[in-house]
Amino acid sequence: MSVGNAEGQNDLQHSEVRRSRRDRKCEACWATIGRGHLYVREVTVFWGDIGVTNRCGRCEAIVRHLVEVLPQGTAIDPNLMCGHDYEDEEAIGRSPPPEIAALAFVTPAEATTLLVADYEKQRQARARKIWRHVP
Ligand SMILES: [Zn+2]
Repeated sequence: MSVGNAEGQNDLQHSEVRRSRRDRKCEACWATIGRGHLYVREVTVFWGDIGVTNRCGRCEAIVRHLVEVLPQGTAIDPNLMCGHDYEDEEAIGRSPPPEIAALAFVTPAEATTLLVADYEKQRQARARKIWRHVP
């Protein structure tokens, strides 16, 4: 699990679901994100330093879960490499729920399906933005 404290929060954070044009590695679990698969690109700015992290759907689901269960303002390592164990985290103190534990067995092809709804939502929002500017 990857947590920090509120003092380690980013100055800016933006994430977007993208479709990969080439094979790349998830920077949290190092699984291959295949060409055509969806992934999350997260850009952060922390004390002026820019960081870019690419995550597969599985790791993104874990990050989103951590955002839900940890106290608001808890910083989460974008690479999920803080070295903490889920059960040992004081704010959680129990085993992960079955749907999160099951993510360990998700294949890369299944991981991309976890992001389809967000990808479609982004595409529709972009289309609405474009159409607003058409006279
Ligand atoms: Zn991953």
